[in-house]
Amino acid sequence: MAEANRQILLDRLPGGDKLAPEHFRLTEGAAPEAGEGEVLLRTRYISLDAANRAWMQGATYRSALESGQVMSGGALAEVVRSGVGHLAPGDLVFADTGWQDYAVLPGKRLAKLPPMQPMTHLMSVYGVAGLTAYFGLLDCGQPKAGDTVVVSAAAGSVGNIVGQIARIKGCRVVGIAGGEAKGRWLTEDLGFDQALDYKAADFKRQLRELGGIDVYFDNVGGDIFEACLFAMNLHGRIACCGALSQYDGAPPPHGPRGVPGLIVTKRLTLRGFVLYDFDARREEALAALKGWVESGQLKVQEDVIEGLENTPAALIGLLAGENRGKRMIKVR
Ligand code: NAP
Repeated sequence: MAEANRQILLDRLPGGDKLAPEHFRLTEGAAPEAGEGEVLLRTRYISLDAANRAWMQGATYRSALESGQVMSGGALAEVVRSGVGHLAPGDLVFADTGWQDYAVLPGKRLAKLPPMQPMTHLMSVYGVAGLTAYFGLLDCGQPKAGDTVVVSAAAGSVGNIVGQIARIKGCRVVGIAGGEAKGRWLTEDLGFDQALDYKAADFKRQLRELGGIDVYFDNVGGDIFEACLFAMNLHGRIACCGALSQYDGAPPPHGPRGVPGLIVTKRLTLRGFVLYDFDARREEALAALKGWVESGQLKVQEDVIEGLENTPAALIGLLAGENRGKRMIKVR
């Protein structure tokens, strides 16, 4: 008898509403079968990313999601049956399996991952989060020792690694995160020099009192981006990684103010990037990240939630700030 395949469908696009459980639906059918050139994958860990919500807004660097489809999402998956020569049962890959137990994908674009203990590190520090932090900070931010580096969503999966790499490079590191508890974690456990709570009434004053930002790593856009722009030093660099404050809910009433004038007078460099731009330099980044993890300079923080059925709530919770570090679902 065919194995059961649980699937979480994006039942209804949220539009300008906050993402909620009723936008998803759990169904069950038979596991698919792999044909020639295809691979049957069993999903082990699903990556939860703020970007999952952004894909519901329309086409980005990938096509827009549609209602009724299996919710898209990257995952660590194990090969069950392979119709291609370079993959065998038991191999691990990272692929867009979507939120389901099993998926069939063309084998051509799937690459075997190295064995790793724990395997979850392939999705956190040695996956999208670590690589995005590495290239975004070092290539786009160009930090120098002694620079003041500020990162937003600092306790999230990308942000906590950005701050730790900046500290390794000898920078003064300031993390922006919601709430005192996250701030304490950043300074006491991860070695950030300072943390600012963007929900505090005096956030903007605290930001001004930093005495100028050389590198701002922007994960959130919106008001925090605007506040940091006004606090930049001459010749400052802004690495534009994402705009997660704009992903969930209605579009903002206005964009950041003062942008063109400030960029000119402060001679700022703003650089947007997408991780795929750096595919050719993946091994360089992995070697550096591995060195820092093994020497204890870079701590890996993972937030693992059990059960495919909990994936929608886990994404909604991530957008609300529940997570510390890389959030993922252990499928079963
Ligand atoms: P994440 O860091 O885990 O972020 C979630 C955190 O963001 C939450 O815990 C919450 O923490 C904070 N947050 C939520 N709403 C916020 C708001 N309105 N203002 C400020 N902070 C808010 O998520 P992630 O998946 O790693 O993504 C981080 C950013 O990187 C996203 O913008 C994503 O699109 C981007 N990204 C870009 C690339 C690329 O190639 N360019 C690749 C990967 C990710 P608090 O408690 O602090 O609010």
